[in-house]
Amino acid sequence: MSEDGSIRELDGKTVERIAAGEVVERPASVVKELVENSLDADATRVSVAVESGGKDGIRVEDDGIGMSEAEVRKAVEEHTTSKIRDIEDLEAGVTTLGFRGEALHAIGAVSRLTVETRPRGGDRGTRLRVEGGEVTSVEPTGCPEGTTIEVEDLFYNVPARRKYLKQDGTEFAHVNDLVTSYALANPDVAVALEHDGRETFATTGDGNLQSAVLSVYGRDVAKGMVSVDADGAGDGDDFPEGPLDGVSGLVSHPETNRASREYVTTYVNGRYVRSATVRDAVVEAYGNQLAPDRYPFAVLDLSLPADTVDVNVHPRKMEVRFADAEGVAEQVRTAVEDALLREGLLRSSAPRG
Ligand code: ADP
Ligand code: MG
Repeated sequence: MSEDGSIRELDGKTVERIAAGEVVERPASVVKELVENSLDADATRVSVAVESGGKDGIRVEDDGIGMSEAEVRKAVEEHTTSKIRDIEDLEAGVTTLGFRGEALHAIGAVSRLTVETRPRGGDRGTRLRVEGGEVTSVEPTGCPEGTTIEVEDLFYNVPARRKYLKQDGTEFAHVNDLVTSYALANPDVAVALEHDGRETFATTGDGNLQSAVLSVYGRDVAKGMVSVDADGAGDGDDFPEGPLDGVSGLVSHPETNRASREYVTTYVNGRYVRSATVRDAVVEAYGNQLAPDRYPFAVLDLSLPADTVDVNVHPRKMEVRFADAEGVAEQVRTAVEDALLREGLLRSSAPRG
């Protein structure tokens, strides 16, 4: 409380930095926003490079639709988006990953941000810099089609925030999880990640999930993956009735497992989500083939009618809320179990239902 206990109005800069903190928590949240923007911009290639876990530098480069000078000037302002016009658009259902129009502005408020961008087919590029929320320069530049965004000195002007960032390795682990999940969700996009000048992984963008898993997790994991493809369309499997229209993706051989939950990656209608419901159902399908506290590798996309799931519970946490979580769990477990059984990797006496 202030000294005299009076209520006062906060100045604009303070409000802006507090608001930015809601969007930008750590380097991984910056990476998430930038990668989503690249995917929304129809990129076929997205390259992410970070320095010191992202604390010193984050660069995301894409070959997407790019922006004109007028567009990039607008894009870094508050609440500006090209993705929806009004609440009706939002209620009609958004197909883009972003729509809030706050990320670039928020990132620019708490870092030194450089955008270099050229529209597809455009004859010139623009380089725009923002420092601590102020646009400090806009100039023409020669650059390839697409957009490159560089974020330096994250939280340089919010020292309390900067102090709470973890060690480089921990911050990078968050970045890696995130970029991995987008790479696996978009096998048709060539996604690359680099840390302090060393390549972590690079997918080919050939559209094949198996090859994306190979690029990200390596041959030993990829070779034993089993395909899951349940849609209740009566092709011999016994996918039960329920909220899901289908479950598809890859799960690992039971012997390929880890002590971390991180390798069960789940999507809802192609959108990356975190869901303990789904993860637990996957683990359950392995029955006693997995030791306690061991987890398989899995990349699973659940398809279901958009109105039976809320994926926007929280913009940052990627949580998901199912209208019928039990029904979802039952279908996921059955789909994975059937896939493992089909490959002879489970005893058919595994407990069911
Ligand atoms: P949102 O994604 O919610 O629209 P952002 O602040 O993340 O809000 O981005 C603002 C706008 O800037 C986007 O709507 C888009 O028009 C433009 N933009 C941002 N990043 C890119 C990019 N990589 N390529 C092309 N346009 C972009
Ligand atoms: Mg965005």
